[in-house]
Amino acid sequence: MSQVESVIVVGASAAGISCIRKLRNEGFLGSLVLVDKDQHGAYERPPLSKQILLELDTTHKDIALISDDELTELNIEAHYGDGARDVDPTSRTVTLESGKQLTADVIVLATGGEARRLPIEGADLSQVLVLRNYEDALNLRQRLTPDARVAVIGGGFIGAETTASLSKSGFFVHWLDAVELPMAHLLPQALCEKIVANTCAQGVELVTNCRIKKFAEQADGKVSILFENDSSIEVDAIVMGVGMTPKTPYFSEAIQSKILNQATGGIQVDENQATQFSGIYAAGDVAAVAQADGSTIRHEHWQSAQHQGERAAAAILNKELPETPVDWFWSDQGDLHIEMAGKILPTKEHLVTRLEGDWPVYFSVVDNRVIGAVSVNNPNAVRAAMRMIKNDIHVDPLQLADPELPLRKLMRG
Ligand SMILES: Cc1cc2nc3c(=O)[nH]c(=O)nc-3n(C[C@H](O)[C@H](O)[C@H](O)COP(=O)(O)OP(=O)(O)OC[C@H]3O[C@@H](n4cnc5c(N)ncnc54)[C@H](O)[C@@H]3O)c2cc1C
Repeated sequence: MSQVESVIVVGASAAGISCIRKLRNEGFLGSLVLVDKDQHGAYERPPLSKQILLELDTTHKDIALISDDELTELNIEAHYGDGARDVDPTSRTVTLESGKQLTADVIVLATGGEARRLPIEGADLSQVLVLRNYEDALNLRQRLTPDARVAVIGGGFIGAETTASLSKSGFFVHWLDAVELPMAHLLPQALCEKIVANTCAQGVELVTNCRIKKFAEQADGKVSILFENDSSIEVDAIVMGVGMTPKTPYFSEAIQSKILNQATGGIQVDENQATQFSGIYAAGDVAAVAQADGSTIRHEHWQSAQHQGERAAAAILNKELPETPVDWFWSDQGDLHIEMAGKILPTKEHLVTRLEGDWPVYFSVVDNRVIGAVSVNNPNAVRAAMRMIKNDIHVDPLQLADPELPLRKLMRG
């Protein structure tokens, strides 16, 4: 493609904002338009299950991703509250909900995802909520009267965080999961048990292996959850924290089959975040990124979205791509700050436990190489693991497990 003179970024969140910042930092002087359907503009999503539920007067302004001043400084034309209805990648045209059409040399799709809803009778009741946008958080907060009881469905990180935050804020929480142990698909079992016990010790009532039959509105405005075993509970609000699905603007059928990754529903991109349509890029939770081994991965976490936005910007300007960081993720659950890096293999033969402080640190080790780590209230341990992963350091698992041996020594190999 000849010199890029205009870029439209659709989606003003972690990926979209890092992309526009990087474009300007790399010297792009052309027209830069930012589009987001959310009237509240660009804000951080991670605080929606944390700060927003812990400090109930927090507004979207407190969690803004970019200030109006910075937008002006960077000479960005921002359209908030008017989403991209459809995108034609062949003519590089974005049609907004308002009918306005925008064209550019390059379009970056950073549209993230939307919260999944379980297909249960009554799931469309106004008391049944999800948590993906600021508006969702406001809906939940509206229902948090001082004696409110909330049911949180889902044993992933968002369910765990929402449960812990609401409980810490003094609300009674029923935490419902369809399996035996929340987060067991994400973290080593012993660690999940300890984290979940910690959450339950704050007064949370955990119901595992639960099968929900339906939700039913009560005359007093509350909602009841009826289980398959005919038991029920009554709450003021239900939050479904059961994952997300990628959200793309409308594409014609012919385009869809070329631009979407069938397995993940995301937008298929290569290592440059480029789709097969010239000048069309995708980044963040919506992007299904081709890997060197032929597989495709769609990440759903902040660091990756942020990195992919920068990567797209560098690729657009034909600059050197930023180095791919070691995968890193955090989760705050009440007083617990959990960090993870790399790949956590829950299988016992690959797990090394280091009994350090109140919370063990777990490393995934394959062929004497650390490939992943998770810690609680001990970010330094995960930072050390990230260095080991990045530099492919040889470690002795016995030494790794020895809390007397400082990790910084092992980092050198
Ligand atoms: C409650 C919650 C807590 C989280 N906590 C953590 C955490 O602790 N740690 C962590 O690493 N990650 C966390 N995440 C995940 C992290 O927030 C996401 O990975 C990250 O926000 C993805 O960024 P993104 O830019 O790809 O997409 P998104 O943040 O989803 O943003 C997409 C943007 O595109 C806009 N958009 C969508 N469709 C259109 C359209 N058609 N036209 C215009 N605009 C559109 C949306 O309004 C939105 O602003 C959390 C997510 C949630 C929801």
